[in-house]
Parts: sequence; structure tokens; C-alpha cells
Amino acid sequence: MAKRSATARKNTRLRPRKGGDAIRYTARMPRVNVDRHRVRRGTEVRLGRIDTKQDGGLSEEDGKKRLPVLTERLAELQELMYAEGKHALLIVLQAMDAAGKDSTIRHVFGPVNPQGCRVASFKVPTSLERRHDFLWRVHRAVPPLGSFGIFNRSHYEDVLVVRVKKLASPRVWKARFDHINAFERLLTDNGVAILKFYLHISKGYQKRRFERRLERPDKRWKFNVGDLEDRARWGAYRTAYEEVFRRCSTTHAPWYVVPAERRWYRNLVVAQAAVNALEKLKMRTPKPDFDPASIRID
Ligand code: AMP
Ligand code: MG
Repeated sequence: MAKRSATARKNTRLRPRKGGDAIRYTARMPRVNVDRHRVRRGTEVRLGRIDTKQDGGLSEEDGKKRLPVLTERLAELQELMYAEGKHALLIVLQAMDAAGKDSTIRHVFGPVNPQGCRVASFKVPTSLERRHDFLWRVHRAVPPLGSFGIFNRSHYEDVLVVRVKKLASPRVWKARFDHINAFERLLTDNGVAILKFYLHISKGYQKRRFERRLERPDKRWKFNVGDLEDRARWGAYRTAYEEVFRRCSTTHAPWYVVPAERRWYRNLVVAQAAVNALEKLKMRTPKPDFDPASIRID
């Protein structure tokens, strides 16, 4: 009998046998309930009423044990996504300074194959970017089918910092909510699954994180005096974020308000929401266009 090639064997391992992978994964542990953090379409969110220290009723020890299982599953799903080539995953991360965007990326997506995952960070637009529409730089950074993309800040800055610091007139930024929804619809219609996470912290927590940056010589480089200007506008940012959630949390591209002061819980929520979204895609490895049994490697 002909020996099956390594690729064929690998394909079998990857193919989700009728819920096979899901069983292996859920049997070990119940899923973190991420749905409670998802903003339902058109809902008014009052950030001041949402506890930033939630832990989902889990212990830190338990939570920390679960993360590697989820990230391993993420890596597996990413490989499947690459093999199938029909979908992409776009993660949008927004937050006030020091809420842990970078750390979330490292912990949740660190174990994923770097060949299939690109991070794009959006800073103050360059002069060239300013001469284009606000989505120009964003659209180019969208992950191609078959891969993951992470936005560290995003097109949402154009209705957040731009609004709060009055960098454009209200007429300009108000029109952007519709532009954003249409843009995200275009992406999801094209196979890009979109998940948007707001890492939710309190003003007191940000103070402690900033102080830590000042105290520790190895962390001082992270401190940016300009961040204090944003901190002084805390309430205005809150209002701007609340409008974003109300206007732009859609069924195809939902927002999650992630309690982010228990950092291990924050990581779990992001990882679990990504796993859930990917499993919903029901991805399959493509069938080979040859009969593996007929192939003999000499
Ligand atoms: P950081 O992510 O801390 O390195 O800082 C990037 C900075 O770029 C943040 O202060 C953002 O508010 C700012 N930024 C990002 N996008 C825009 C934008 N479209 N317009 C103005 N400022 C922006
Ligand atoms: Mg800043």
C-alpha cells in the first residue's frame, strides 16, 4: 500500500472532523462567556457603569492556564485559514493610553505564525496620508484572505482623537460613522471577519500605569508627555467612544468592551472571541486535486 505523504497526513489532522476539534477543545474547559461583553447593535453603552475589574468569575490561576489552550487553537485555525484561503481575520484594538494594547497583542497573538499575521499601528497621519480620504491608509493595511491582521489603533481614531481634539469639523467626522460602517461591510462581504475590542480601564488605573512608567527606568521610554493631554480629556474621549459603540457595533463587525484591569482576563476575552469567530466560519482544508494514495515518493 502506498504511504500517505506528510502533507496528506497533516491535512487529516487539520480537517475539523464533524466537531472533532471543537470537542477536544470544549471537553477540557468551558468557554469564557464573551457575549456579555459584546455591544448589541444600536445599544447605548455607559462606560462609567461597566466594571473595569471584571474577571468572569474565574480565578487568575485558572485564567492563566486557559490562555495557552486558546492561543494554540488560534494558531491551528490560522493555519486552516491559510490553507483554505477564503477568509481573513481583522482585529481592531482601541483604548486609552496604557490600557495594554501592545501587551494584548503579544499575549494573544504571540504564539501565532508570524508569516500569517500582520500588525498595523496607526499614528498621527503623515502629510501624504492627510491628502487622502481617512480610509486610504487603513484599507491598504487590511489582511489579505488567508491571514490575520491586527490594527493597533485604527480608522476609529478619525472619530475619536479627531473629534476630541477638534482636528476636523463636526460635519466631517460625523459623516464618518456611515463611511466606517459601509467600509466594514465591504470587508466582511469580501470574507474578512472583523472583531473590534475596546480595552476598558479606569482613570485611576491609567494613573497607576503612568506612575509605573515613570518609576521604572526600563519603562520610562514608554512615557509620553503628550499622553497627559489625552488624559485631561478623559470625559470627552468617553463620550466619543460611547457614540462609536452605538453607531458602529454591527452584527458583522461587533464591538466588545473588554474589562482590562485583570490583564489575564482581558487576554482570555480577546482570544476566546477570536476563536469563536473563526470556528463559526466552518473552514475546511481544500481537497487535493490528486489522489494521495496514488502518489509514491521514491
Ligand atoms: P501611540 O499609539 O501611543 O504610539 O500613539 C499614536 C498617536 O497617534 C495617538 O496619540 C493617536 O491618537 C494618534 N493618532 C492615530 N490616528 C490618528 C488620526 N487619524 N488623527 C490624529 N491622530 C491620530
Ligand atoms: Mg497617546
